[in-house]
Amino acid sequence: MSVTSAAADPTGGRPVIPTRGTLRPLGLGEARITGGAWSHRQRVNGGATLDHGRSWMDKMGWTGNFTAVEQGRGSEERRGREFADSEVYKLVEAMSWEVGRSADRIRDREIGELTAMLVAAQAPDGYLNTAFGRPGQRPRYSDLASGHELYCTGHLVQAAVARTRTSGPDDLLGVARRAADQVCETFGPEGMWGICGHPEIEPALVELARLTGEQRYLDQASLFVQRRGYRTLPLHPFGWSYFSDDIPVREAEVLRGHAVRSLYLTAGAVDVAVETGDRELLDAVISQFDRTLARRTYLTGGMGSRHMDEAFGDDFVLPSDRAYSETCASVAAVMVAWRLLLATGEPRYGDLIERILYNVLATAISDDGTSFFYAHTLHQRTPTEDLPPDREQLGFGGGPRAPWFEVSCCLGNIGRTLASLSTYLATANERGLQLHQYADAEVGTRLADGRRVAVRMATRYPDDGTVSVRVTETDGGPWTIALRVPRWAGGAVLVDGDQRRPAAPGTVEVTRDFSVGDEIRLQLPVRPRWTFPDPRIDAVRGCVAVERGPVVLCVESVDQPVPDLDLVRVDPSAEPREAGDGATVAGWFDQPAESGWPYDESAPQAGETTRAALRLVPYHRWARRGPSTMRVWLPLG
Ligand SMILES: [Zn+2]
Repeated sequence: MSVTSAAADPTGGRPVIPTRGTLRPLGLGEARITGGAWSHRQRVNGGATLDHGRSWMDKMGWTGNFTAVEQGRGSEERRGREFADSEVYKLVEAMSWEVGRSADRIRDREIGELTAMLVAAQAPDGYLNTAFGRPGQRPRYSDLASGHELYCTGHLVQAAVARTRTSGPDDLLGVARRAADQVCETFGPEGMWGICGHPEIEPALVELARLTGEQRYLDQASLFVQRRGYRTLPLHPFGWSYFSDDIPVREAEVLRGHAVRSLYLTAGAVDVAVETGDRELLDAVISQFDRTLARRTYLTGGMGSRHMDEAFGDDFVLPSDRAYSETCASVAAVMVAWRLLLATGEPRYGDLIERILYNVLATAISDDGTSFFYAHTLHQRTPTEDLPPDREQLGFGGGPRAPWFEVSCCLGNIGRTLASLSTYLATANERGLQLHQYADAEVGTRLADGRRVAVRMATRYPDDGTVSVRVTETDGGPWTIALRVPRWAGGAVLVDGDQRRPAAPGTVEVTRDFSVGDEIRLQLPVRPRWTFPDPRIDAVRGCVAVERGPVVLCVESVDQPVPDLDLVRVDPSAEPREAGDGATVAGWFDQPAESGWPYDESAPQAGETTRAALRLVPYHRWARRGPSTMRVWLPLG
């Protein structure tokens, strides 16, 4: 890796820029969402959500922690959990992508102010963390298992990468480089043999290496990945798997333990494997992730089914009513899937990103952008309650969207993902453009041979299944437009002029010497459909769900004639019927006899039964119309 001076990314900024791989990512200046629901969400995110995050971080004292360090005030003033610094960094990262997306000058100034605060708080040797190392605090790196110091530095580095790529190098990059250098000096080959209890520094250091050309950052990330799995962290009450420190990365078979930790580590391992050309490591990680998708992932794309340790359950342990499915785990899964899509070109990773976007990310944030879900249950048995907008939630195990949590990791993750969302729409290779996600958008780039190509996507997807792609720029000569056909989209059709041809799930391509104005249309069948679970998922055996295109549907009590959703059964003999962006299905509400003991020698006698048409709505719309109960999986009649 040759050293280059870091500069703004000429494409407008990309979160991940591998130096090798199958597909090349496009930047904020090359892929732009121009309309539709995601455009609206991006605007809300760039305004209300980032303002909300900033004001709460000020109110909670998390930004003030840095000022206290700068002013030499006592450590007893330090507020929040040990990882509070990371929330400030993640907010700065989200702001940086937002400035790249919208050129918001007020936000740009805000980043400058926050950067000045970080510059002033950084120690002369580069160390920067408000929770350790000052008089009255624990010494630096004295609690690698729980201290989150390297985790925080990772988020600082990611913020600086985002800032540099979108706006050019400034003081934030200087802060991040000094902090990363301090990490390399402390934990390098001659230094302390340690790893952080919470992975995150790994993908951050690889990206800093990609940005700056500094080999030492890649080497350090590589060391951190190699060192994990040998049980060198102290035993955690939940086991070494909690830290993914139970089995070396290249020997593991599946993701396990704390879901966010495991997924951040996986993202870093993909980055290291790609940058070092380590095919064995890449194959190991692909196999672990694929097995995790096959056995440990909810229908929504959510991951993590155990509240107690925020962890993956064993294979097929995917209870609906105890789904943890943290927002951050889904953002981390998008990070992994995106890296694997770039590395392999496999459309199944685009399928997962789509599933998460529509069913976790879209669900996580309120319409006004100022409250959010930490966990994502798939079955709410007791009505949610409205929360006052100024109250912090102490627990983070479910409940309604809350304005703030004691641990508010998810908001920054939502913020940075939405602000950079357009970079996940499309990629390029030497042959042309690949469209992975569908939205009203403009996508254009220069191919490796210098030719300029661009298309405009127009669609009402997923409400409607037609995606129109019109060529807006071409320099002549043949090139290829490739479109992802989701796994659920059997019967999809590609319309190219007078020609119609079937488009099987996977990828469909059109290659020719395009002219400006040429249009191709992908028609995806988004009608509602039944979805049956693997019978090994005991928690939902004998149940069925309804999906419409990429959108998981649910029944919510506010739409039903009988509010108690525990009493529902559905009749699978007729197909679900279209109803706006949802569906209706035939079913029953039972009223079982109460016997005082919920088990019997014989199947319980059917009580009173009421036949009903059940209305289903997109899961992402639930809990937006007042207190309700909800379920995704419906028992078969
Ligand atoms: Zn979170």
